[in-house]
Amino acid sequence: MIETKAYAAQDEKTPLAPWTFERREVGPHDVQFDILFCGVCHSDLHQITNDWFPGIFPMVPGHEIVGRVVKVGDHVKNFKVGDLAATGCMVDSCQVCENCKQDLEQYCLEGSTQTYNSMERDGSMPTYGGYSNTIVVREEFVLQLKEGVDLAAVAPLLCAGITTYSPLKHWKVGKGHKLAVLGLGGLGHMGVKFGVAFGAEVTVLSTSASKEEDAKKLGAHHFVVTKDPEQIKAAAGTFDFILDTVSAPHDFNMYLSLLRTNGTMICVGVPNEPASVAAFSLLGGRKSLAGSGIGGIKETQEMLDYCAENNIVSDIELIDIKDIHTAYKRMEKGDVRYRFVIDMATL
Ligand SMILES: [Zn+2]
Ligand SMILES: [Zn+2]
Repeated sequence: MIETKAYAAQDEKTPLAPWTFERREVGPHDVQFDILFCGVCHSDLHQITNDWFPGIFPMVPGHEIVGRVVKVGDHVKNFKVGDLAATGCMVDSCQVCENCKQDLEQYCLEGSTQTYNSMERDGSMPTYGGYSNTIVVREEFVLQLKEGVDLAAVAPLLCAGITTYSPLKHWKVGKGHKLAVLGLGGLGHMGVKFGVAFGAEVTVLSTSASKEEDAKKLGAHHFVVTKDPEQIKAAAGTFDFILDTVSAPHDFNMYLSLLRTNGTMICVGVPNEPASVAAFSLLGGRKSLAGSGIGGIKETQEMLDYCAENNIVSDIELIDIKDIHTAYKRMEKGDVRYRFVIDMATL
C-alpha cells in the first residue's frame, strides 16, 4: 500500500485537517502520479458538509488534479515516469455500457466512480481526492498535459473547464449565436472564455455590477445586472443559449424569459434545492431547459489540447493548503477571481 498525506474531513461537521491514509498499490493498468496542484471546486464544499447527500467519511476532496507520474503498471501504454498527468471528476466506470462505449463515461449506466466520496468499483475502499500528495488511477482515466503549460492554472480545466466546454460543444454554440453566461464564478469565467473562443456573442448575467470590468476583460461583449429590472426587460427574448452556472437557488422562469424562440437554457450549476419551472415559461417560444455534467474522457483530453493550443487557462489564486478554510469562506461569498488552486507543495 502507498502511504499518502492528505487533508481530510472526518465528518460533515469537522473542518479539514491533516490525515494520513493508504492508497492501493499500482496495478498493471494503473498510473501513480504525485500531485503538484489541485483546484478548489464549489462541489468540494457541498460534499464535505453533506449539502447534496450523505458522504463517505473521512473524505479527501479535490477533483482538479495535476501532477507528474512516479510509477506505471506493466500494461500501461500512454504514460511513463516523469510525464505530466491529470485527473478530473471521475476515476473509473464500467467501460462496457452504451454510454461508456460512446465516450460518455460521465453518464455510465452503472454510475461512474467519482474521484472522491465514491467507492472503488470492486467495493474494496472509498476513493480519495486531490488534496493529497499522490494518487493512483487506472490509465483510461488519466489525462495528458503538454509540457510548458501553467500547471496551476490548468488544474481547474479538469472540472470547471470541461463542465462548460462540453455543453457548448454539444449544442454547437458559436458564430451567430448570442450566449448568456449566468454567474461569473469558477464555471462562469470558463464559460465566457470558451464562448468567446468559439465565436459567440457573449453576455454575462450577474447580480453584482462590480464584476462588469472583469467580465469584459475575460472577453465578454455585454454585461447585464440581473437585479436591475430595466436591464432585464431590455434583455428579454434575446439569447439563443443561457449557460446557467449558478449553484444557489434562483428563478428559472425569469431567466427562461430571456431566451429567444427555440432557445435553450443549460444547467451546469447544482443548487441544493429543486427549482420550480412553469410550463408556460417553456411553451411560449418552444424553449428547452437542459443540463450537462462534466464531459467524457475523450472530450476532456480534446478540451485540454484545445486550451493548450489556444492559450486558455483558468484565472486563479494560488493558496497554501492551510488557508483552505479561508478560501471556502471567500468562495461562499463569491469572493474569488476565479478559482482557488492549492499548491500541494505546502501539504
Ligand atoms: Zn468540480
Ligand atoms: Zn458504463
